[in-house]
Amino acid sequence: MKRYSAFAVAREALRYHLGWERAWASPEPRRKYDIIIIGAGGHGLATAYYLGKNHGITNVAILEKGWLGGGNTGRNTTIIRSNYLQDPSAAIYEKARSLYESMSQDLNFNVMFSPRGVIMLAQTEHEVRGYKRTAQANALQGVTTEFISPARVKEIVPIINLDGPRYPVLGGLSQARGGTARHDAVAWGYARACSAMGMHVIQKCEVTGIRSENGNVTGVATNRGDIDCDKLGIVVAGHSGHLADMAGFRLPIESVALQALVSEPIKPCMDCVVMANTVHGYMSQSDKGEMVIGGGADGFNNFTQRGSFHHIEETVRALCETFPMIQRLKMLRQWGGIVDMTGDRSPILSKTPLGNCFINCGWGTGGFKAIPGSGWGFAELMARGQSPLCDAFSLDRFREGRFIDESVAAGVAH
Ligand SMILES: Cc1cc2nc3c(=O)[nH]c(=O)nc-3n(C[C@H](O)[C@H](O)[C@H](O)COP(=O)(O)OP(=O)(O)OC[C@H]3O[C@@H](n4cnc5c(N)ncnc54)[C@H](O)[C@@H]3O)c2cc1C
Repeated sequence: MKRYSAFAVAREALRYHLGWERAWASPEPRRKYDIIIIGAGGHGLATAYYLGKNHGITNVAILEKGWLGGGNTGRNTTIIRSNYLQDPSAAIYEKARSLYESMSQDLNFNVMFSPRGVIMLAQTEHEVRGYKRTAQANALQGVTTEFISPARVKEIVPIINLDGPRYPVLGGLSQARGGTARHDAVAWGYARACSAMGMHVIQKCEVTGIRSENGNVTGVATNRGDIDCDKLGIVVAGHSGHLADMAGFRLPIESVALQALVSEPIKPCMDCVVMANTVHGYMSQSDKGEMVIGGGADGFNNFTQRGSFHHIEETVRALCETFPMIQRLKMLRQWGGIVDMTGDRSPILSKTPLGNCFINCGWGTGGFKAIPGSGWGFAELMARGQSPLCDAFSLDRFREGRFIDESVAAGVAH
């Protein structure tokens, strides 16, 4: 694989850009792999990447029914932060955030990580107490956050209205090194690096069945034929219930649509991410100038990967109170993705009832920020059978009542 560099860009500019090679190969599936990962979203690709990089396992196929990053990875609002309450969450999200800092250099692919800061607004006394508590917990966990005053919020976000009639801004939980990254670049960067290690990233390859013998997976059935493997990783977000069904076990997961929208592009007016969890809305400005707006999840289970009018109305109406200037913006487009929600709003990174089958799901409305940390830990779990980053997130916790309650940090917003 040729390295991307300033020199390469200059060289190709002189050659009319005819010398670039394809970023990743499109191979035909082999008969058998050491490891198959189902799902080429960020989490599946990151898992494959760290299997190769950290554990030297490269006879790996990543099977994707659609196109790279075409699931939630390419549909999210790209917020990255690690200000969670519980210790296992802080560990995995902070690992991910720190890996985002050097991801472009590590992958030799510009993922446009922008640590522009994230503020979660406190708009009720309850939220003030909750966020002060989170800031204390974060200090103990080594995650840098602070509770800031309304005046400081206004200084950082001049377009904000602090004195909304229903929910005035009473302060905010700020994480200065949180931010955003370009979502599809994360998928592309990992895919390119996996392909360079000789792994097979196979698009338009839908898994339609999981074959097992004596309690172990032997391979998968796909629309491109049967493929055998020694180990299987299921990393399919909103489709996890279907895949678990194929493998013969059940998951404590509900699938719902989560929606987002963007406005027409405008001049730079907000250089950090603001989340208003009480009114169910959050907003950032993309490099193109569009205001990227996300709201809450649908209140009913469904698999519709699209937006709906009532959500635009609900989300924008709520945000207008805090950001009156958006009343005058035209909305450009909206979309939806199917997210996988657990009862405690924490992910599942776990062994399964099948001996050599592992599952990574349950990231719900907030898994983009976790991609590198999740891939790091899940690769370790698949390679070695245990991982300090993943152990608390096993399926057993639902049977044993060891919930990792992140409903405040993750339930509504991101
Ligand atoms: C509107 C929206 C906004 C969001 N905003 C944020 C945010 O700001 N910050 C944040 O941290 N998170 C956010 N999220 C959540 C985040 O996008 C997800 O948690 C994360 O992308 C999940 O990644 P994944 O790799 O697990 O899943 P996906 O990216 O969905 O990848 C799973 C892949 O599996 C494939 N697949 C499914 N079934 C099969 C099969 N049978 N065979 C082969 N392949 C299959 C799918 O096609 C898909 O490509 C948001 C989500 C949405 C929908």
